[in-house]
Amino acid sequence: MYDIELKRITKTYLGTDEPAVKNLSLNVEKGSIVTLLGPSGCGKSTTLRLLAGFERANAGSIALAGKVVSDENTWIPPEKRGIGMVFQDYALFPHLNVFDNVGFGYKAKDRRARVMEVLELVNLKGYEKRYPYELSGGQQQRVALARALTRRPVVVLLDEPFSNLDADLRVTMRVEVKRIIKEAGATAIFVSHDQKDALAISDKIVVMKEGVVQQIGSPREIYQYP
Ligand code: ADP
Ligand code: ADP
Repeated sequence: MYDIELKRITKTYLGTDEPAVKNLSLNVEKGSIVTLLGPSGCGKSTTLRLLAGFERANAGSIALAGKVVSDENTWIPPEKRGIGMVFQDYALFPHLNVFDNVGFGYKAKDRRARVMEVLELVNLKGYEKRYPYELSGGQQQRVALARALTRRPVVVLLDEPFSNLDADLRVTMRVEVKRIIKEAGATAIFVSHDQKDALAISDKIVVMKEGVVQQIGSPREIYQYP
């Protein structure tokens, strides 16, 4: 079963001639972590934004958890797609403490319990009352990840999650992000231009170039030469 299905997606931005993404098809199995890997400008962020619903494709269809969210006749807005997002700069609310960042917009009865549960998952129990500026980069990333998981999303999208971390922290957070996503049972797509990130975290790597998929495979298949 696939949690993410892209079928022949093409996206050309207004005022440009060349599509940013060309006729792209991709299926992501439930519970797996897939990395979109490739140089700047190859269409990784565009693919992520199409999945999130921040952009609309010119052609093709997108289904999440078996439900079409975007095609010629269908448009489900971002907030109704059941997606959690982690942005490159974490995008935490500076005036809210950790608890309120993680619980932001989550109004269910189990709010308190759920926030504590995801904080435990990301190893930040005891940090509820801290503010983002009081946290290290790695801790801020944990908060961002927790916030992305609060609503129990089927799909989590991560945009260059390691690019603002120093080398040591990067090694730690690769392992941590993988553990957290697996424990949450989410299906994840993450964007990177770093092969080491992709190797450490992915079940599958999608190598992109100039808006098309060049190669798809497990890290072994991509990096082992005959
Ligand atoms: P990547 O994430 O791999 O760096 P992007 O998806 O950001 O690639 O960009 C793919 C192509 O689309 C690039 O040529 C980029 O300049 C172009 N592009 C991205 N966003 C926009 C936009 N909002 N308007 C016009 N062109 C864009
Ligand atoms: P990234 O590769 O992480 O998307 P960029 O610096 O390429 O970072 O893009 C930053 C912002 O500028 C994005 O919102 C993207 O949509 C926009 N952008 C990128 N390329 C273009 C472009 N050629 N024309 C207009 N906007 C662009």
